Amino acid sequence: MEPLKYLTGYPPPLLEQVRQLIDQGRLGTMLAEKYRDAHAVRNDGQLYDYVQALKEQHLRRSVPLGKVLYDGKLQVMKHALGTHTAISRVHGGKLKASREIRIATVFRDAPADFLRMIVVHELAHIKEAEHNKAFYQLCRHMEPDYHQLEFDLRLYLTQRELDERG
Ligand SMILES: [Zn+2]
Repeated sequence: MEPLKYLTGYPPPLLEQVRQLIDQGRLGTMLAEKYRDAHAVRNDGQLYDYVQALKEQHLRRSVPLGKVLYDGKLQVMKHALGTHTAISRVHGGKLKASREIRIATVFRDAPADFLRMIVVHELAHIKEAEHNKAFYQLCRHMEPDYHQLEFDLRLYLTQRELDERG
């Protein structure tokens, strides 16, 4: 049986349930019913405003945002959860960090909840580089349902790949 690569590390009984949903052809429908809302964040400018608004709400005092963009070259495989890059620039002799945030293009057409989840994930990296306890606390602070959303996003990526294979 093929490994469920987006779900590595989750408990076997849970993966068994996922396999059943896939075998019965129900995973896609289940996700579509649960996540009905699309979003209107179509381009990099709109994405910047969207990220900035969430940042204002939760992380106002952290370093300013740099570039924010959808990146079609980000491999969902490799960076299933986006990537984060810290760029340091010298401004008038003073080192100033700004944050570049790249979001994989797959999120442009993903349900609204998944875009919010991935943006929360990337914003949390402004303060915490690692996926540690403090990082996930911050994610949950911004999005109380974070863990469920991340799991469902992994299901969504799994289903998407099955669809692509036809
Ligand atoms: Zn991360």
